[in-house]
Amino acid sequence: MSNTKKRLAIGFDDIHPQRGYGYCDEYAKRLRALIKYGVRPTLFCTPVWHSRYNIMDSPEWVKKWKGVEWMLHGLTHQNPRLRGDSQHLEYAGMDFENSVKSLSKAKELLQKSTGQKIKGVRFPGWQDPTNVNEVLKKSGLLRHYVHEQGDELPVYETDGIVKVGYTCLLHELPQKVVGDLFVHAHISEGYDGKAMNALNQKNFENLLSFLKKNKDQLEFVTVSELVEEKK
Ligand SMILES: [Zn+2]
Repeated sequence: MSNTKKRLAIGFDDIHPQRGYGYCDEYAKRLRALIKYGVRPTLFCTPVWHSRYNIMDSPEWVKKWKGVEWMLHGLTHQNPRLRGDSQHLEYAGMDFENSVKSLSKAKELLQKSTGQKIKGVRFPGWQDPTNVNEVLKKSGLLRHYVHEQGDELPVYETDGIVKVGYTCLLHELPQKVVGDLFVHAHISEGYDGKAMNALNQKNFENLLSFLKKNKDQLEFVTVSELVEEKK
């Protein structure tokens, strides 16, 4: 029965058209393999990465991603009020009005460029704006969030979702499917030397064999479907 199955979603962060971060043949090949297998990947996109790479200027790049769900990952992924390591926390300390304005712009750009209705957001660095619930309500967006308890081992979340982090070695995947699974990955080259881990060749093969082994117990969903279910 399908209702006894555990759900599995895979999300990719930091997707944007800057060369090296968004699309290369190697990843496209792996993504296609996952899609062929039934996985329904969600791409978390930053529509104006660092205020420079506007997704509207790259229609050909958008077309290359087929069979994916698009969700938001901020507007610029940069916070001019912060310095150093925290600079990527775009919404840290942002007030209601500015957050709604920023998300509305991001949503409009991503909807226009992909032709999809954008259902949700994952805030850069998992950092919520002030009054996050009101902001989400006003923006008509779901939020994808998991506790950042380390990326090297699977994390068992209180809502039953098992989070597999992007630096997690996928041979650490649970042997048994005990709960819904969320696999957190990046698609980027040379981002920090670790960013590719969830999809490096060995891990990718481990993931595929995990999927194969547990196929009968899994139902592949998009991240928005997983979040909607857990609301
Ligand atoms: Zn990010």
